[in-house]
Amino acid sequence: MKTRVDCRQLDAQDPLRPLRELFSLPDGVIYLDGNSLGALPKTAPARLAEVVTREWGQGLVRSWNSTSWFTLPQRLGDKIAQLIGADPGEVVVTDSTSINLFKVLSAALTMAAQDTPNRKRVLSERSNFPTDLYIAQALCQERGFELQLVEPGDLSASLTKEVAVLLLTHVNYRTGAMHDMAAMTAAAHAAGALTVWDLAHSAGAVPVELKRAQADFAVGCGYKYLNGGPGAPAFVWVNPRHAERFWQPLAGWWGHAAPFEFSADYRPAAGINRYLCGTQPVLSMVALECGLDIFAAAQTLGGMAALRTKSLALTDLFIELVEQRCAGDALALATPRAHAQRGSQVCLQWQPVSADGSTAFAVMQALIARGVIGDFRAGDGNLQQDILRFGCTPLYLGFEDVWRAVEHLKQVLDSGEWKRPEFNQKHAVT
Ligand SMILES: *Cc1c(COP(=O)(O)O)cnc(C)c1O
Repeated sequence: MKTRVDCRQLDAQDPLRPLRELFSLPDGVIYLDGNSLGALPKTAPARLAEVVTREWGQGLVRSWNSTSWFTLPQRLGDKIAQLIGADPGEVVVTDSTSINLFKVLSAALTMAAQDTPNRKRVLSERSNFPTDLYIAQALCQERGFELQLVEPGDLSASLTKEVAVLLLTHVNYRTGAMHDMAAMTAAAHAAGALTVWDLAHSAGAVPVELKRAQADFAVGCGYKYLNGGPGAPAFVWVNPRHAERFWQPLAGWWGHAAPFEFSADYRPAAGINRYLCGTQPVLSMVALECGLDIFAAAQTLGGMAALRTKSLALTDLFIELVEQRCAGDALALATPRAHAQRGSQVCLQWQPVSADGSTAFAVMQALIARGVIGDFRAGDGNLQQDILRFGCTPLYLGFEDVWRAVEHLKQVLDSGEWKRPEFNQKHAVT
């Protein structure tokens, strides 16, 4: 059994330890929710202040020309491309994950309508993140497709001749289970379907190889593992073999081949640039760039491969300690043990699951009161959840942090303090 001293030792030997100093984290907090909102890069406040006071305040409209505001989507996209197995010029940062998903799913449905007109189904997982399912529902309704939702184990068997598009989130938000992207993409292609991947819980968390997997479309989130700040813009990638085949449906002027011609007719820009729509949130882009530049620093220490090694060591440690120290408590591991099937979070499900997910909620409130910030997923009618989520971000989490977090969990469970009324008020939101 690993002791606190062992964990300190692991921190002392951790080659990625210096990266933690690049983040500003409050004293007394163990942050296990980087999968929901990443931490603040130390450079961001000064960089934002500079852009606000100098570029906006002094430069005013001239800054569109005198600074690089206009090319932020491409510059940031190139930085993300390195993390997801894409090439420079193939990714743009823009809009939100939901909106980018609308664009790529719409493009995929247009391709399917042309290439495989008899296929009328979009296949996804029932436990996919709701916004992905809502966007798919709306588009299916509008375009005469049908959304089919199945359990993860039934995906392969459901890739029938009716399926036009397989829409999957690489790492499940609820359980941290990770799909084999190359295998699922190959299965979809063998069955004649296109693939759309949502990388919200994988970009910056696990190595992603979009091109090696020959994926078709991908979107991902800027404010989770990429540490871009609340509501940071998202990104979109389209395999270059498809990028120029269609207009995307939100054909705005930023996606025009020559936006400053101000012509009446839309002419899409080459490649991924046509997936831009309108004017982008410059301040939010600048904040996201501070997060992305930390990955450049990580690159010199081994990059995504080193981050993945540490992430697995952290989640392994979390699982081992919970099973040893909280044995006998009503917690079941909801995250796969196999490394190849695990993202960068550990999820524990209360047993037996309460219908409204209220136990995980109360336990998490008690943990948060102690400065251990994770989150919970309650039941939603279809899925009985009652899940505690602990994101293990290898950029800033240490091994002793994990030890202390599990110790707090043990104390919360042993003492029964989570049953206190103040931790059971459902209106509190984390
Ligand atoms: C976090 C997350 C999103 C977020 O979408 P927004 O448009 O930023 O609200 C979308 N999809 C998945 C799978 C997510 O985990």
